[in-house]
Amino acid sequence: MLRRLILLSGAGFLFVVLTALTQLGGVIFLASLALAWFLRRTGSTKAMAVFAGIVLFLAGVPLANLFIAPSLATLHGRVALPCEMSAEKPYAALSPVYCVLGRNYVRPEVQAMLEAMGRDLGRDDPGLVVATLDANFPLIDGFPLPPHLSHDDGTRVDLAYFYKDAAGNPLPLAAPSFLGYWGFEEPLIPADAACTDKTRWLTFRWDMDWFQFFVRKDRTLDEERTAAMLRWLVEKGPEHGVAKILLEPHMVKRLGVASPLIRFQGCRAARHDDHIHVEVGG
Ligand SMILES: [Zn+2]
Repeated sequence: MLRRLILLSGAGFLFVVLTALTQLGGVIFLASLALAWFLRRTGSTKAMAVFAGIVLFLAGVPLANLFIAPSLATLHGRVALPCEMSAEKPYAALSPVYCVLGRNYVRPEVQAMLEAMGRDLGRDDPGLVVATLDANFPLIDGFPLPPHLSHDDGTRVDLAYFYKDAAGNPLPLAAPSFLGYWGFEEPLIPADAACTDKTRWLTFRWDMDWFQFFVRKDRTLDEERTAAMLRWLVEKGPEHGVAKILLEPHMVKRLGVASPLIRFQGCRAARHDDHIHVEVGG
């Protein structure tokens, strides 16, 4: 009885975590459990049933997100942002992981904004590719995209900064962190740091100290291109529905672009000195 309770609690916990990570992941996890249960009931060995469940889960999550979710998203008024660089699109996910997890969905107006921005920026800077990070899940308005406090209605997208290699050459679709997040730009002047009170709790403002080991130090911020993107967002963006931009104050100062559209997210939400958060319409 106790063993069954522990197993059920564990399965419930995994369901919640997987659903938070990749919206369809929890459902596929349940399908995998159901398959394993069915195989056991029909005489398969325990090892075979567990193996089949694991295979269904590991193959099911990427397959569902890459091939089924796009059609479901269309029914919910969302489109998938591209997963890799191509000659046709001046924007793409920084990492395929955003597509494998189904975190790359937006309303068509967000895609149109990215299209216009990439096209305009690329006119003076051929080869430029805007790198997208977390956007939204494919389904259901109001369904959050953890750990973000928003990204729940198809109108939000996070954009990576632009970076250069050690020789100063632009790096398309690359960042110091392979995820795009958590390779923070620290304030040039310590006094410009926000939220220095580290005693607060219940906050999503993570400094991710343990992750810094994975952050490449040979990639540096491309201030010129990042500032050009921010300038486009505040000057041309409103014509394409851009209504709000979140950025850390010391980055606003460093990039030298001022606008009432640019806000500070506060000290309880994620840091925005590794990416720019953009909302369209909403
Ligand atoms: Zn965001």
